[in-house]
Amino acid sequence: MPIYEYRCDDCRRVSSVFVRSVSAQAVATCEHCGSNGMQRLMSRVARLKTDSDVLSEYGDGSGPEGVRDPRQIGRWVEKRFQEYGMEVPAETREQIARAREGDLPDAVKDV
Ligand SMILES: [Zn+2]
Repeated sequence: MPIYEYRCDDCRRVSSVFVRSVSAQAVATCEHCGSNGMQRLMSRVARLKTDSDVLSEYGDGSGPEGVRDPRQIGRWVEKRFQEYGMEVPAETREQIARAREGDLPDAVKDV
């Protein structure tokens, strides 16, 4: 069963919607505000975002303060994945674990 991402016109947040078949007209309802004004995004949620995608989209969410405390590293990433109802990929979990031990990925060092 395909899963599509929809962006809400009202609150601009993304919801994942199960579609019974590719040809079916999906009735997408925003998970966050209940609006039906949803625009389907081109990418399917089944394609997991790469770390660089996440960093470029959400890099502002943490700020330097988040990186200074190693225990906070990755918290916001995990939170974003949770908001999408997605598992944090094993590769990302490993990077977070390494970062918390002081081995920061280059993308974080450059910030
Ligand atoms: Zn909404």
